[in-house]
Amino acid sequence: MTILVINAGSSSHKAALFSPDWGSRPQWRSHLDWSREPGWVHLAAQTADGRSHRDRLQTQDPTLALRALIETLWQGPAAVVEGPTAIAAVGHRVVHGGTAYQHSVVITPDVKATIRDLCPLAPAHNPANLHGIEVLETLLSGIPQVAVFDTAFHSHLPRAAATYAGPYDWLLQGIRRYGFHGISHQYVAQRAADLLQKPLSTLNLVTCHLGNGCSLAAIRGGVSVDTTMGFTPLEGLMMGSRSGSVDPGIVLHLLRQGNLTATDLDRVLNQGSGLRGISGLSNDLRTIIDQAEAGHDRAQLALEMFIHSLRRHLGAMLASLDGLDAVVFTAGIGENSPLIWQAACEPWQWLGLRLDPTQLERCDRDRDIAAPDSAVRVFVIHTQEEWAIAQACQTALANRPAVPAPAAEP
Ligand code: AMP
Repeated sequence: MTILVINAGSSSHKAALFSPDWGSRPQWRSHLDWSREPGWVHLAAQTADGRSHRDRLQTQDPTLALRALIETLWQGPAAVVEGPTAIAAVGHRVVHGGTAYQHSVVITPDVKATIRDLCPLAPAHNPANLHGIEVLETLLSGIPQVAVFDTAFHSHLPRAAATYAGPYDWLLQGIRRYGFHGISHQYVAQRAADLLQKPLSTLNLVTCHLGNGCSLAAIRGGVSVDTTMGFTPLEGLMMGSRSGSVDPGIVLHLLRQGNLTATDLDRVLNQGSGLRGISGLSNDLRTIIDQAEAGHDRAQLALEMFIHSLRRHLGAMLASLDGLDAVVFTAGIGENSPLIWQAACEPWQWLGLRLDPTQLERCDRDRDIAAPDSAVRVFVIHTQEEWAIAQACQTALANRPAVPAPAAEP
């Protein structure tokens, strides 16, 4: 089945086409980016057989830009299909599914209404996801679309892990821990089990998704039993430009001082904090590491804080497990930073966790970087969220209830 996957974000969109001939390798992948140049959108598409298409569109209209991106599937140098009808289904990453969705679902008007209702809980993500769905509905009319939720994998958190210690009424209002990056945590957990050649149902894992957004998950027997992100993707680890957990008393203090509105605070906590806020330089860990090495004091502080935050949350995840078979690193930082692997693992030597000094180099292969005698395995795994979405899309379509045949005319 040929499946188009759309991962629509607030400042960039990614898309990939999976066809039976190419297996888990996308036959076509593309990227739209609004963040590089004000007033312009950069478009890039590549095919698995080495063709590419690049363009720069002068538009602020996200609908036009997404249409142009999708049309590169059948027009221009990166075309791979004859036309829209070659696509059997579209899978969309949807960040927040609330309590409504524990699995991927075929999109209906009701599903769209729920995604819209959840926009206040993921304002940077759900509106963009919904926009992607609506554009694809017009462009590929009649082709089934599936929503694959980033929250679904965490929907079985034990209630003690999911509930905030505010008034019980919060829980009744849906204020609870949802957790995010679930598509990635689930994919890398299964991949780690495959590399260990053991059933996932027998394993205790901590998965570390460390990209621009960062979260950890404690996975027992294939079930997410704890995770660092919460009601929104702001909680937990220090991130590129997000604060992660801060004392809520700070927010009250700032509001009482009266100089900041809720919108200002949202901007500060989501865009002006984390590595960027502390260093004053960048949200990119590569810049922070380079500048810390060059002696930039605030970059050094940002790096020390990032490592401290990662270690203390890793410790918290361990407390929710019955043991530890493996730690998994993934996403931009997790797949590429030997410094972070070493810093994150150092405190756990007393558990018998030891890294292999010969494996501490960047590499495109998924692999085990623990020493042969380590009591815990440590994997670096390249997350494949788009492939996981394509698979979830196929499962949702296979499980959808059959449409009853129309009653025969009497
Ligand atoms: P993602 O959100 O998964 O695309 O990750 C993007 C982030 O990964 C960037 O902002 C960088 O902070 C980080 N990153 C990518 N490559 C490296 C690297 N070689 N060393 C450290 N951090 C990296």
